Amino acid sequence: MSDTASVDPRPNALSAWPDAKGRFGDFGGRYVAETLMPLILDLEQAYEDAKRDVNFRAQMDEFLRDYVGKPSALYYAERLTEHFGGAKIWFKRDELNHTGSHKVNNCLGQVLLAKRMGKTRIIAETGAGQHGVATATVAARFGLPCTVFMGATDVARQAPNVFRMKLLGAEVVPVSSGTGTLKDAMNEALRDWVTNVTDTFYVIGTVAGPHPYPAMVRDFQSIIGREAREQFLEREGRLPDAAVACIGGGSNAMGLFHPFIEDESVRLIGVEAAGHGIETGEHAASLKGGKPGILHGNKTYLLQDDDGQIIDAHSISAGLDYPGIGPEHAFLHDAKRAEYVSATDKEALEMFQLCTQLEGIIPALEPAHALARVRDLAGELGKDGLILMNMCGRGDKDVPQVAEMLGVEL
Ligand SMILES: *Cc1c(COP(=O)(O)O)cnc(C)c1O
Repeated sequence: MSDTASVDPRPNALSAWPDAKGRFGDFGGRYVAETLMPLILDLEQAYEDAKRDVNFRAQMDEFLRDYVGKPSALYYAERLTEHFGGAKIWFKRDELNHTGSHKVNNCLGQVLLAKRMGKTRIIAETGAGQHGVATATVAARFGLPCTVFMGATDVARQAPNVFRMKLLGAEVVPVSSGTGTLKDAMNEALRDWVTNVTDTFYVIGTVAGPHPYPAMVRDFQSIIGREAREQFLEREGRLPDAAVACIGGGSNAMGLFHPFIEDESVRLIGVEAAGHGIETGEHAASLKGGKPGILHGNKTYLLQDDDGQIIDAHSISAGLDYPGIGPEHAFLHDAKRAEYVSATDKEALEMFQLCTQLEGIIPALEPAHALARVRDLAGELGKDGLILMNMCGRGDKDVPQVAEMLGVEL
């Protein structure tokens, strides 16, 4: 444990965290093995330098525009608005990005940073395979060999994504320790990183891990909120009453929220996956149903048993079943700046169909969770209200699973 007491002054503004030790209040930090410390200090320095480098930023902007397809549209979901009969609903359409979700925003940033640092090998963890595919995509574009760690259980469940990664030239390493799921894949990636210090860059897929990852991933994803804030002002002449996003590890939500943190009139609402229902214990709601603890190098809310052992998360949506949540969300939760609610598998499945039928947009099952709470909020805010929701991924990947759940044979 290398995270010792700090002399840093506490930032005043909520948006100014983390402090120099990577802490968001009580959360975050870098609880890592001594051997990992030099790597993350090196990464932190490289990221700080890159952030200030106009050439790095110009390179990011060019690839975000020409490769990812930024800016993504802000779209008035008119028929859903009419259907719910309350506040006006706008979607930030990050599902239109190359590879179909927000994940590429972050992968692009980290891979460009890896290039800048002279690293020649990329590693990543993945659960359902979405982050693995996005990382393999960007690694292919920059000609870097890429190894993706994936729980053995997930490898068996997610064959199409495993094949996709292989097509993109990545090596997929099944991890059979633990329950063979995302948290085990992440442990294995951290282990690989320590043993391949000189040439390897670890691309983490959400706002988790030791500092500087939670802040760095948030910064790369903040393009979502920056674009949406500007587009919203242009279209509505004012800010939304609420910004809503689903939460797995919390990167698309943090990216949406961050540029609005100092706008006190904007409610920030994160929607966790309630699975079969929080009361059943089969869910992925780390804030609603977890306790503070330490995992993957940071302190945050985690799903754990009485011995502090991590419990596997459950959700219909493979992208939401991380047993933790980014430390900045834990901080915003305890500071009462953001609200955290949840939606069940059943609600997500309903919203998946409703959005498809009314808007002609097939949402990923992840943002379908957010839409369930947008529905309630629309009624609560009434006709004068304005809601901004991040449509963080498209649902093509979920079609076979939805067919199965609806009892349709393909
Ligand atoms: C991975 C994923 C998520 C969950 O990750 P966050 O870090 O919470 O954003 C949500 N939606 C989609 C479409 C994803 O691919």
